[in-house]
Amino acid sequence: MTTETAPAAPQAVTGKEYQLLINGQQVAPKSGEMMERRYPANNDVTVAKFPKASEEDVDAAIEAARKAFDSGGWSNAPARNRSAVLRRAADKIRAEQNDLARLLASEVGKPLSEAGIEVSLTADVFEYYAGLALDIKGQVVSNYVSDAIGMILKEPVGVVGIITPWNFPMLLATWKLAPALAVGCTCVIKPATYTPCTTYELGRILTEAGAPAGVVNVVTGSGKTVGDRIAASPLVDKVAFTGSTEVGQQVMRAAASNVKKISLELGGKSPNIVFADANLQGAVIGALFGIYMNAGQVCQAGSRLLVEESVHDQFLNMFSNFVNGVKVGDPMDPSTRMGPVVSDSQLGTVESYVKSGNDEKATLVRGGKRLTGEGYDKGYFYEPTIFDQVDNRMKIAQEEIFGPVLSVIPFKDADEGLRLANDTMYGLAAAVWTKDIDRAFKFAKGIKAGTVWINSYHAAGTLGVPLMPFGGYKQSGIGRELGQEGMEMFMETKSVSLKLN
Ligand code: NAD
Repeated sequence: MTTETAPAAPQAVTGKEYQLLINGQQVAPKSGEMMERRYPANNDVTVAKFPKASEEDVDAAIEAARKAFDSGGWSNAPARNRSAVLRRAADKIRAEQNDLARLLASEVGKPLSEAGIEVSLTADVFEYYAGLALDIKGQVVSNYVSDAIGMILKEPVGVVGIITPWNFPMLLATWKLAPALAVGCTCVIKPATYTPCTTYELGRILTEAGAPAGVVNVVTGSGKTVGDRIAASPLVDKVAFTGSTEVGQQVMRAAASNVKKISLELGGKSPNIVFADANLQGAVIGALFGIYMNAGQVCQAGSRLLVEESVHDQFLNMFSNFVNGVKVGDPMDPSTRMGPVVSDSQLGTVESYVKSGNDEKATLVRGGKRLTGEGYDKGYFYEPTIFDQVDNRMKIAQEEIFGPVLSVIPFKDADEGLRLANDTMYGLAAAVWTKDIDRAFKFAKGIKAGTVWINSYHAAGTLGVPLMPFGGYKQSGIGRELGQEGMEMFMETKSVSLKLN
């Protein structure tokens, strides 16, 4: 008789050590100073130690990228060579899927299942741009006048600085890195200090996949030192940034020094609007996913839930019942649906917004507290929280909380719903739930947002299909990532005219 033992539960990754990636080499920081990332679910273990780069280190990385670009070894290489590197990177990521997912879950604190999705989407994006790398072409103007031919050429923009946040560190770096590399740019990447690990792994994977020295460089350290140095450097031609609107504005100012090209993916306060005729069960699940995925730390989170008055009570009741079933816990536990927030300071931000909601007399229906007790005390866990009867002018309806806090706003009719949905400085995403196709498309046309979902939330186009451009109206950003447009951002256009004699 054999005794079956249960497979060991996955554990958080510990003890990783990284060095700067400069010119294809692992390099210690000049100062010798290291930083550390601890597991946000319990703070007991050190996930990784990583370098604190100085301005000198950042300059070395930028110079390596400049030299690699100017040498033409990558920028002028046959497209099939660049495509092959990206395809091999996709294959390697898939081969290392489980280890990368565990590392990602350990550094961010997101559930292992969500981390697994992010890793596989990362591989998809590399594969997609490996294909597009083979299809970069300009245009020819052949018959506007009879005695001239015009050619519109596409060329890589040059050295790209990539600055990313901590909520989807692997995927958001790749949305920039893959198209930039596909067209022949070279890159210096600066991940957030909470989440350096998977970006260093991307650097390693691309190097192993054949990216020549200097084409991909990774530097870590504070935003003020490392991020600002990249944004201000005269040797950098473009900066691609994802993060808060406030830091995005600082990046714009720094980039102005040499009139860098910039693309910015910034914050959001996205409306998720439910009409009375919607499939309410589907809308409940969409709303749940919309606000509590990654503990609400999602730029496109459906943080304003607009519900038509006639179904408000029924919907809220159904929704609250579902929320009661959301298991909050250790990201490594397969039954966990929501992990901790990323840091103590993020927890403090969430607490201060909940206080503001209470002060402004929104109705706290559920949650509103830090989770305590065994398994919670040492981590940054917060209850899934719902405020009802929120006035759209309140702070919790206007400002991005970046935590598991939902504002429910009742509305009377379609006109009022659209007006409230658009009454925000942001314009990243929106969703509408209805069976009336006319109403759905009126909303889709009327909303000022870069992404609109009809009868879904976070569906294709955001975290799903790499073909759909992603970006924001208003203060949610400048430019679009993903799709063909996501590659255009890394190219210059040159018009060449040939006069026929
Ligand atoms: P953040 O703006 O604080 O930091 C983003 C990055 O910028 C980090 O790497 C940080 O170190 C760096 N940085 C900080 N100061 C800098 C400076 N002066 N110059 C250059 N770089 C600097 O954002 P965060 O807290 O890491 O992430 C949360 C924010 O990101 C939220 O506002 C969220 O909406 C936004 N976000 C947007 C998208 C999107 O695609 N629109 C996606 C994810 C997150």
